[in-house]
Amino acid sequence: MTQTATGRPGKIVCVGRNYSEHAKELGNAVPKEPLLFLKPPSSVIHEGESIVLPPQSKQVEFEGEIGVVIGSRLSHADAAAAARAIRGICALNDVTARDLQKSDGQWTRAKGFDTFCAIGPESAAPSDLKTLVVLTRVNGVERQRGAASDMVFPIPDLLSYISGIMTLEPGDVVATGTPAGVGKLAAGDVVEIEIPGVSKVRNPVTNTV
Ligand code: ZN
Repeated sequence: MTQTATGRPGKIVCVGRNYSEHAKELGNAVPKEPLLFLKPPSSVIHEGESIVLPPQSKQVEFEGEIGVVIGSRLSHADAAAAARAIRGICALNDVTARDLQKSDGQWTRAKGFDTFCAIGPESAAPSDLKTLVVLTRVNGVERQRGAASDMVFPIPDLLSYISGIMTLEPGDVVATGTPAGVGKLAAGDVVEIEIPGVSKVRNPVTNTV
C-alpha cells in the first residue's frame, strides 16, 4: 500500500449512528437520514500524538471509524460521482466526551476538543468500498470491529447526501460513523484504529498537564 500523510482538512464532516448495533448500544434509534455533525480542523492529531483528556469531561471515549478523504470538489453530486471523487481512505478516531454529548444536547463541545480527531495516513480506496473493515484496539485488546458493508448508509450515499448541503472540497475528511463497542479511555492507555491493509493510527492518552 502507498500511504500519504493526511494533512489538516478544511473541514471534518461526521456521521452519527451509521451502524445499527452502535445506535442500539447507546439507546438510540437508527436515523431515517444520515445524522451529521462537524469536528473543527483544530481537533486533528496524527500518528503518535497524544489524545489529551480535558478537565471538563469524566467520560472520554474512542470511536474507531473509516475516514474518507475527498479528492475533487463535490456539490449536489449523485452517489456515482461522489464515489469517483474519493482521494483516499484513512483510519480515524472520533474521540468523544460522552458525558458532555449527553448533557449539551448538541455536540460541538463533546466532539471538538483539541486532539479529539486522530487521523492516520491515507491510501487509495479499494475498488469495492464495501470490503473496508475498521477495528479499534485499546492497549492491544480489540474493542471494536465493523465493516463498511454493515453501514446504514453506504459511503457513496453519505457523500452524495452531504454534498447536497455543503460543498465538499479537496482534502476534506468525512468520518463515516463508528461500529458497536465504544468505551472509555484513561490516561496511560494507547488506542489504535486500523483499517487492515489501508491505514492505522495509534495514539497515547494523557491527562491535561
Ligand atoms: Zn463518530
